[in-house]
Amino acid sequence: MIKKLLIANRGEIALRIMTSAKELGMKTVVVFSEADRDSMPVQLADEAYCIGPAKPQDSYLNMAAIMSAAEISKADAIHPGYGFLSENPRFAEAVEAEGLIFVGPSPQHIRLMGDKQRARKTMESLGVPVLPGSDGVVNRIGEARRIAEKIGYPIILKAVAGGGGRGMRIINSPAELEENFKTAQREAYLAFNSQDLYIEKYIERAHHVEVQIIGDGENVVAVGDRECSMQRRHQKIVEEAPSPFISQRTREKMLETVEEASRKLGLKSLVTFEFLVDEEENFYFIEANTRIQVEHPVTEQVTGIDLVKEQLLVASGEKLSFSKEDVIVRGHAIEARINAEDPRSFTPSPGKIHFLFFPGGNGIRIDSAVFQGYEIPPFYDSMIAKLIAYGRDRNEALHKLEVALKHTSIVGVKTNLPLLLSLLKSAKFRSGNYTTRFLEEEFIW
Ligand code: ADP
Repeated sequence: MIKKLLIANRGEIALRIMTSAKELGMKTVVVFSEADRDSMPVQLADEAYCIGPAKPQDSYLNMAAIMSAAEISKADAIHPGYGFLSENPRFAEAVEAEGLIFVGPSPQHIRLMGDKQRARKTMESLGVPVLPGSDGVVNRIGEARRIAEKIGYPIILKAVAGGGGRGMRIINSPAELEENFKTAQREAYLAFNSQDLYIEKYIERAHHVEVQIIGDGENVVAVGDRECSMQRRHQKIVEEAPSPFISQRTREKMLETVEEASRKLGLKSLVTFEFLVDEEENFYFIEANTRIQVEHPVTEQVTGIDLVKEQLLVASGEKLSFSKEDVIVRGHAIEARINAEDPRSFTPSPGKIHFLFFPGGNGIRIDSAVFQGYEIPPFYDSMIAKLIAYGRDRNEALHKLEVALKHTSIVGVKTNLPLLLSLLKSAKFRSGNYTTRFLEEEFIW
């Protein structure tokens, strides 16, 4: 078993990982930037090491500094959390090269899934449906034109190395393609160091439904699905488990398809397979994430499985503590991401939290690392808390979420609480049948 775990992350996910690690009897080490000196993970870890200035490039993305902290602290494993270095295969390799455990899939699997076009081709070859599109990277506009004609507009241009909702462009006509192709290449190069693009058919009324899998090298189990269609600029805001949209039949087919493909690939650790589901419930793989996800708590609430604990067990070389038959989805969970930002313009609102209150109660879970008097630094993501409500059914979860959000009080910075509360009231959201464009195009408040 891992004895000492270094957590190469910050904020709520650093605390979330720390909790499971401590419950398993591990010692915990966190690394932090100068801006995070007074943060909660630093106060609660057994050891903490400063790895550099505030800018992510100089600290949380600084592999050499993180590796030195691992050496000094004599940690035997590194958990990368999400974001930062979590999906960087070179980091996983560097960790393993030092004889440490990287808590995640193998570097080969991270590399495979990090190349979205290769991932798409691989999944297709394993019998997982993908959207019509290019066969490989599309370098020339002529080629793009031909493919677009064949599959029909609208299409979406995607950066092979893209992520985090960036590097995508929806193209509605040949004229738009002419206008956008070169810019998309240039943008991809600037953002991801690779100008490679591929093409997919764009689905206008799509649901984003994802499947969580966990493997221990021998056994691979799908632990249910999540609906993540509530998005702004391709970034999730509210997530639920199970998806209120798909039928039981579609669900079973999706889980089975993913489980089968993951088994063939020999996947280890946590991997999420993201799908777009159209109105007729056809599902198409879009990408896989090889790390713990922000929205993992909704799966934990409905299954009772501690995903981080299982991830740590598997990384330690143990078997999963449960089998496929033990996965029973009960009730419904909804997560709302609370961001420190202007709820209308979405501009980040860093600064000091003068007053803070989070409610508790039956079925309410708060994953957060902020506290009264905490100063939210301007250098990182604006998400400061996740409020997760669990109920016996979706309606109960909705009611619990609404009351809990109303009872939440954050003074000193602007937050998206008013937006979340309005969303909860909308009939469309309450119906459970909302698409990825709902928030940006249909929702008025
Ligand atoms: P990222 O890695 O940046 O999160 P994804 O490939 O997971 O990118 O896509 C993120 C979101 O973008 C999806 O949830 C969906 O809203 C939208 N999207 C991506 N591909 C398509 C497509 N082919 N048709 C419609 N929407 C898409």
